[in-house]
Amino acid sequence: MSVCVGRFMSSVYPCIINGERVQAGVYGVFEDRNPADVDEVVAVFPLLSREDVKKAIDSAEEAFEKWAALSPVQRGKYLVKAAQIMESQAEELARILTREEGKTLNESRAEVARAIDIFKFYGVMGSRIRGEFTPSADARTHLFTLREPLGVVSIITPWNFPIAIPSWKIAPALVCGNTVVFKPASYTPLIGYKIVEALNAAGIPPGVVNFVTGSGGEVGAELIINDKVDAISFTGSAEVGEEIKQYACRSNIRVQLELGGKNPSVVLEDADLDKAVEMVTRAAFGLTGQACTATSRAIVVDKIAKQFEEKLVERVKRIRVGNGLADGVEMGPVVGEKEMKKILSYVDIGVKEGAKLLIGGKRLTSQEHSKGFFLEPTIFTDVTPDMKIAQEEIFGPVLSIIHVHDFDEAVEVANKIEYGLSASVFTTSLPRAFEFIQRVQAGVVKVNKPTTGLEFQVPFGGYKRSSYGDIKEQGETALDFYSKLKTVYLGY
Ligand code: NAP
Ligand code: MG
Repeated sequence: MSVCVGRFMSSVYPCIINGERVQAGVYGVFEDRNPADVDEVVAVFPLLSREDVKKAIDSAEEAFEKWAALSPVQRGKYLVKAAQIMESQAEELARILTREEGKTLNESRAEVARAIDIFKFYGVMGSRIRGEFTPSADARTHLFTLREPLGVVSIITPWNFPIAIPSWKIAPALVCGNTVVFKPASYTPLIGYKIVEALNAAGIPPGVVNFVTGSGGEVGAELIINDKVDAISFTGSAEVGEEIKQYACRSNIRVQLELGGKNPSVVLEDADLDKAVEMVTRAAFGLTGQACTATSRAIVVDKIAKQFEEKLVERVKRIRVGNGLADGVEMGPVVGEKEMKKILSYVDIGVKEGAKLLIGGKRLTSQEHSKGFFLEPTIFTDVTPDMKIAQEEIFGPVLSIIHVHDFDEAVEVANKIEYGLSASVFTTSLPRAFEFIQRVQAGVVKVNKPTTGLEFQVPFGGYKRSSYGDIKEQGETALDFYSKLKTVYLGY
């Protein structure tokens, strides 16, 4: 079905509950608009009610027994097939992602490729879901552990990596034998729909993956409080994460929350400065700064601070901001008007706090930018560690430079924050690199590399307020979250 919105024909997409297409909820539909051109409605999706979500959870519960009874190797085959389907659509998916979220086409291509790899990885991991054999005190007892699925898993995801994040949750959940109800962010439902469509085309049984769209406060809330849900994996804001945490403590279900970051890049006097400038530029302004692992604090030793800033400003001046589909564009729009206003309000706060604006700070309004949420890449210097712009997550293209005397002060400033997701250091000294690895409080540490950019085959998760739940995402560790261990004593 298509509807005419503005000057575009736009498709109305369904939710998927128990393998069936659910066209519109009692609340009607909502529009998914392009942040680079707000006149373009990319897609229209149902605004489901709690009653609809309950049906999705019921169908996941019903599908569980049969799905869990398959061998993990059999389940993995569906994931590999879905990966192949997505691979055949990779360019179309990348274009959808850019139109829906705003990131550049190259960034979208990389994210789509990563999602495909994640599905392949967990598909193959079907043959590696194993327990452990341990010698028993009794010679005639076989003592071993088995892995069993949890049941129904609620998966709630943000808009900023709208294909990679759902993939790194859905794929390990399924291969472990769980059934899923997945709610994408309302800014980016179409790319999420395409994942579920690929799984359906791969022949996954009805009810195993259900796809529900609508408001966080309604659809998301039901996915959290429904007592048929056995586990929740959520990535999003610390505020919503806090609500889920309160609930999880009361209900005793397994919960994993990946929340915000305020990631530091430390630049020492012995760093390769050109390299540091390039990496900090990419980590701060790539993905328009809307990455949970984006560098938002550059902590630079006095000795090289001026030189670093000059080079950085020169580099950042060359960033072309525009529609992510256009050639040569290095930074797309921010995702929405609300987010843009929040970022601009932080620029005001920074100025009022006495930080010095080195470059940027404004909305772009030329003809090319008139229909989207485009901001200048923004850098503050003379930022002190206690300023709001150095403490709070801005989630946009704004970098704060903090000057420090030496390495020890750099580590102290890096750690003096409630977040602890990703951190990096630029140095040519191996001892300094190791000391940083040991002392920095972050779940991901990088040396001479940007704070952004994650490989799927290793665990990912933060320290402190950045994460909640002991089991990290991605890598083989993800299988620990989506399964429980049963210990077996088999006497013979
Ligand atoms: P958000 O507002 O918390 O939304 C995340 C998801 O939760 C969306 O699907 C949203 O639905 C849903 N939601 C909203 N309110 C809810 C509620 N009361 N109950 C249940 N679900 C609810 O976050 P966002 O603005 O999309 O994403 C940006 C945030 O995500 C940033 O803080 C960023 O740091 C964080 N993030 C963290 C990581 C990580 O791995 N640590 C990765 C990426 C992003 P609607 O879209 O319908 O509102
Ligand atoms: Mg959108």
